[in-house]
Amino acid sequence: MAKISEIMSKGKTLSFEFFPPKTPEAMTGFNSAVDALAALDPDFVSITYGAGGSARDTTYDLVLQVDSRQKFPAMPHLTCVGHTRAELVDLLASYRANGIDNVLALAGDPPSDGSDSGGDFVYATELVELVREVGDFSIGVAAFPEVHPRSTDRSSDRKHLAAKLALADFGMTQFFFDVSHYKRLVEELSDLGCSVPLLPGVMPFVSVAGTRRMAKMNNTEIPAALQHQLDLVDGDGVATRELGVQVATELVGELLEFGVPGVHLYAMNRAESIQAIYKNLGLGTN
Ligand code: FAD
Repeated sequence: MAKISEIMSKGKTLSFEFFPPKTPEAMTGFNSAVDALAALDPDFVSITYGAGGSARDTTYDLVLQVDSRQKFPAMPHLTCVGHTRAELVDLLASYRANGIDNVLALAGDPPSDGSDSGGDFVYATELVELVREVGDFSIGVAAFPEVHPRSTDRSSDRKHLAAKLALADFGMTQFFFDVSHYKRLVEELSDLGCSVPLLPGVMPFVSVAGTRRMAKMNNTEIPAALQHQLDLVDGDGVATRELGVQVATELVGELLEFGVPGVHLYAMNRAESIQAIYKNLGLGTN
């Protein structure tokens, strides 16, 4: 379809992230969200890769389906931990044969009980090298503004990230609520001689418990003022969704003002919040 690195070279991108649904009802929701958000004319979308089992095949099927039906590319996320080299070569060759030009190359998480993953890979860098070997893909990698939760220290995290970005075409960040974390990441990478474009990931949250859980898992700071607002709305109703839109709108506005190469919005298989952010900021064609 089109390489994301080429699309990015032409100007700021706006993109959305989806996940593979688990039930037939959720699949209907996924399809309507993709169709509704296609009207906003995104530069690309991405689809996450499940921790195991059938969700992995669903990612593959949905990437091919969206990529062939829509006028923007669909990029698969792909994790290497727990996979053999042969499995990944097969999957990548299939993507390539079906016209998929982009891959978000990730390590994935090792088994939480500390057991051997049974795969051939540990770090995302190894997958980036394999993806380059298998085909002519545009390759994205993950970046953690507030440092990866498994990192022992900030300085080694940044060095590993700079080395990984040097092999890739673009980075895409974990969500954050304070723009200063993104700015500091860009500055620290620049000090290491790395200027690979970094797309900030923005999550318009819809659930207070879910936001707190994910923030804890990912080392994401929830600023005191936002903690207070979350206490006030609580739950996962309309007030929480509206707060999520308000917070994301402000964040996207600050990021665009800072001069980011694009913004990646976590759609979470729903259209309403993204549509509201677009409307608030006067983005896109609608
Ligand atoms: P890496 O870049 O390999 O880093 C992992 C850790 O190892 C870091 O602490 C790093 O500093 C360290 N490290 C790296 N290289 C070395 C080295 N040579 N020596 C020593 N230490 C090193 N997970 C999913 O399962 N599916 C998804 O679809 C998915 N999508 C994501 C999308 C985004 C935008 C982001 C930010 C994350 C996503 N993740 C996903 C989560 C990701 O898989 C986990 O955070 C995983 O733990 C690390 O992946 P990574 O690619 O950042 O790993």
